[in-house]
Amino acid sequence: MPSYTAPLKDYQFVLHDVLQVSQQDIPGFADLDRDFTSAVLEEVGKLSSNVLQPLNAVGDIEGCHLENGVVRTPTGFKAAFDQVREGGWTALDAEEQYGGQGLPYVMHTAANEPMVSANMAFNMYQGLTHGAYSAILAHGSDAQKDMFLPKLASCEWTGTMNLTEPHCGTDLGLMRTKAVPQDDGPYRVTGQKIFISAGDHDLADNIIHLVLAKIPGGPDGIKGVSLFIVPKFIVKDDGTLGDRNGVSVGKIEEKMGIHGNSTCVMNYDEAVGYLIGEAHKGMRAMFVMMNEARLGVGLQGYSQSEVAYQNAVAYANDRLQGRAVTGAQNPAGPADPLIVHPDIRRNLMDQKSFNEGARAFTFWGAMLLDKAHKTGDKDAEGLVSLMTPVIKGFLTDKGFEYATAAQQVYGGHGYIEEWGMSQFARDARIAMIYEGANGVQALDLVGRKLALDGGKHLMGFFEMIKTFIKDNEGNEGLEKDFLDPLKAASKDMQAAAMYFMGSMKNPNNALSGSYDFMHLMGHVCLGYMWARSAKAAMAALEGNAADTAFYETKIATGRYYMARQLPATALHLARINTGAGTVMALDAAQF
Ligand SMILES: Cc1cc2nc3c(=O)[nH]c(=O)nc-3n(C[C@H](O)[C@H](O)[C@H](O)COP(=O)(O)OP(=O)(O)OC[C@H]3O[C@@H](n4cnc5c(N)ncnc54)[C@H](O)[C@@H]3O)c2cc1C
Repeated sequence: MPSYTAPLKDYQFVLHDVLQVSQQDIPGFADLDRDFTSAVLEEVGKLSSNVLQPLNAVGDIEGCHLENGVVRTPTGFKAAFDQVREGGWTALDAEEQYGGQGLPYVMHTAANEPMVSANMAFNMYQGLTHGAYSAILAHGSDAQKDMFLPKLASCEWTGTMNLTEPHCGTDLGLMRTKAVPQDDGPYRVTGQKIFISAGDHDLADNIIHLVLAKIPGGPDGIKGVSLFIVPKFIVKDDGTLGDRNGVSVGKIEEKMGIHGNSTCVMNYDEAVGYLIGEAHKGMRAMFVMMNEARLGVGLQGYSQSEVAYQNAVAYANDRLQGRAVTGAQNPAGPADPLIVHPDIRRNLMDQKSFNEGARAFTFWGAMLLDKAHKTGDKDAEGLVSLMTPVIKGFLTDKGFEYATAAQQVYGGHGYIEEWGMSQFARDARIAMIYEGANGVQALDLVGRKLALDGGKHLMGFFEMIKTFIKDNEGNEGLEKDFLDPLKAASKDMQAAAMYFMGSMKNPNNALSGSYDFMHLMGHVCLGYMWARSAKAAMAALEGNAADTAFYETKIATGRYYMARQLPATALHLARINTGAGTVMALDAAQF
C-alpha cells in the first residue's frame, strides 16, 4: 500500500529561503521563525503520515453510507477527526477571539498540505468548514460571528457550501432555491442543492450550511442571489442545540473518487435560514469562501501529485526491469531498477519539478492573501485575485496529469487497485471540476482578471518578473539556465495578453485561447518560482548551508523545469494566435 512522508525540508525552504516569511512586514509574520514553523509542520506531518494516510484507502473502499437519514463516514474517520480537532489543527489561522491560534494563512496552507496529501477526502470536512468560517467572518453580523465562529473554528460544528442545483452549476443565475422572509422571524429556505461536499456526516454535532437562494421579488439572475446560514440543528440563544431544521439528505452520490467525503443531495424544506450580509449580495459573500476554496483546491491538485510521486519514486527504485542502456547498474541482480531508464527519469522529473514549483506558487499566493487581509494592500489583493484562477486551474490540471504519470511508473500495477495508485488519480480528478470547472477558471482569467483595475495587476506581474531578471543579471549561475528562459516565457505571456487586447471585436478569439493562456501563465508563474528558488538555493550554498545535497538537488530540479517544461509557453502562444477560426469552424450539427 502507498505511504506518505511530509516533505518538511521543502516546506522550510519555501517559507524561509524563498519567501523569507519572518522578514515580511506583515502582522504576525515575525513570529514565523524557522524553529517555530519546523515544530508545527513536523507535528502535522506525523499526524498526516500516522493517522490520516492509513485511513485514505479505508475511505476509498468503504465510502460513506446513508443510514436512517444520517450519513455514516468510513471506519476510523470520527476518531481521527477528533484527534485533528483536539490538536488545534482546524483553527491555526482562526482569530484568537474565536478560539483560534491567530497564525497567518500561509501557515494554515503549509500545514494543510500534508493533511491533504495524506487523505484528501477526509480533509475536505475541515476544509469546507474553514471556508464557511471565513465567509461568516467577512460578512456575518457580530451576533452570527459570536454564535457560529468558535464552533466552526474548533470543528465542533462543520460547514458546507451550497451553490449547485440540478439544472445550474456554472450559471448560478438560474438558481431556483428560494428564501422567503417571515414577519416574525428568520427566512424560510426551500429548494434542492446537489453535489454538496460534506453535506451530512457523523463527525460533528451540528452542520452549518451556507446556502445561496433567491428572495422572491428580487432582481433576476445572479444579482438576485443572497446567502443564508442554515444550521442542521437550530441553535438556541444560549448556544445549545434545539430542534432539527428542515434540511435533509436526499442521497449520497456515487462517484469516481473522494469516496471518504459524503457528496450529498440536500433538500431544504422551509428550513430556517439567517441572511448573511445584505440581501441580493450573496455572491459577494460567497466569493470569500470560493476564492479561498480555489486556493485550497489548487493545493489539492499538487498534493495528490506529490503523494503519488513519492510512491512512484519508491517503486522505481525497487522494481527490477531491463538494463540501463549505458551498462548494467545492478550487475548482481537479474535486472536494473526502473529508475535507471531515462524515460522513467523524465517522468519523475516532470512530477518533481511540478510539485515543488506548485508548492512555492501556492505558498506565495497564500502569503499575498495574508498581505491583502492583514495590511489592506490593494496591489497584493489584485495580484492574488489575478493568480487565483491559475492556481486553481493550472495546478489541478497538472496535478491530475502527474498523478496519472506516477501511475504509469508502476505499469500495469498502477492500474490495479491493490497498489493504491489509482486513488490518487481518481481523487485528483474532481479538483479540475469543482469550485468552478477549469474552463470557467480560464474564462474568469481572460474575461475578467486580465483587465482588473485597468490591467494594473497583470502589468505589475510583468514588472515583477522584469525587475527580478534585471536585479540578477550578471549572476552566472542564474542567467543562462533560469533568467533567459524566464525572459522568453514572460515575452510569450505578454504577446498573448496583447493578442487578447486586440481581439475585443471578436470575443470568440479570446475565449478560444483562454485555456491555453491559463496554462501559459501557469508555466510563467512556476518558472518565476523556480528562478527565485534557484537563487535562494544558490545563496544557501554560498552561505555554506549544511545540507548541500538538498540545495544542489533543488537547483538541478529547477534547471529541468526551465529547460523541459517552460518552453511549453511557445506552443500555448502559437495556439492562442490562431484565434477562433479552427475552433469554431464546425456547425453544431457537424460534431
Ligand atoms: C464530487 C463533487 C463535489 C462537489 N461539491 C460541491 C459543493 O460542496 N458545493 C457546491 O455548491 N457544488 C459542489 N459541486 C458542484 C461543482 O462545483 C459543479 O459540478 C461545477 O461547478 C460545474 O457545474 P456543473 O456540473 O453544473 O457543470 P456545467 O455548469 O453544466 O458545465 C459543464 C461544462 O461546461 C463548461 N461551461 C459552462 N459554462 C461555460 C461557459 N460560459 N463558457 C465555457 N464553458 C462553460 C464547464 O467548464 C464544464 O466543463 C461538486 C461537484 C462534485 C462532482
